[in-house]
Amino acid sequence: MDCIFCKIVAGEIPSVKIYEDDRVLAFMDINPLNDGHILIIPKAHAATIHEISEADFLAVMSVTHKLAAAVQKTLAPEGINILQLNGEAANQVVPHLHVHIVPRWSGDGLTVSQWNLAPGDMEKIKELADQIKSEIAN
Ligand code: 5GP
Ligand code: ZN
Repeated sequence: MDCIFCKIVAGEIPSVKIYEDDRVLAFMDINPLNDGHILIIPKAHAATIHEISEADFLAVMSVTHKLAAAVQKTLAPEGINILQLNGEAANQVVPHLHVHIVPRWSGDGLTVSQWNLAPGDMEKIKELADQIKSEIAN
């Protein structure tokens, strides 16, 4: 498969690895948004949240939790963004699911989490909540 992160898992493309287990690999991002920018991926290819198994997703999130603590001890950032993008419309570039750990400092100039907040239409919010609730798989 022509997937850059699968090639990293297979060792065909070099990476600066920081963690590995049966299901998960974590390595440094080569275009770091800030010092300590890490990517956490499932070893089994899955493009997005809709394709990954729940077990693999939980394993990726468990490693994310562990590595966030290690980043905090190493760099003592003032904040950390955990980002996981799905689909081109959400700015996903590499179609192999990955979680970003991005250490943050006030004034670092990043804009990843600056949303323009405006009050929503409560009727629409409630209607969508009902529709989503009816689609939750047990
Ligand atoms: P996203 O798909 O969530 O927008 O981000 C993809 C991320 O993968 C980017 O932050 C980019 O720097 C990183 N990336 C792309 N190709 C490589 C690579 O070959 N090695 C590493 N370590 N990171 C990569
Ligand atoms: Zn892949």
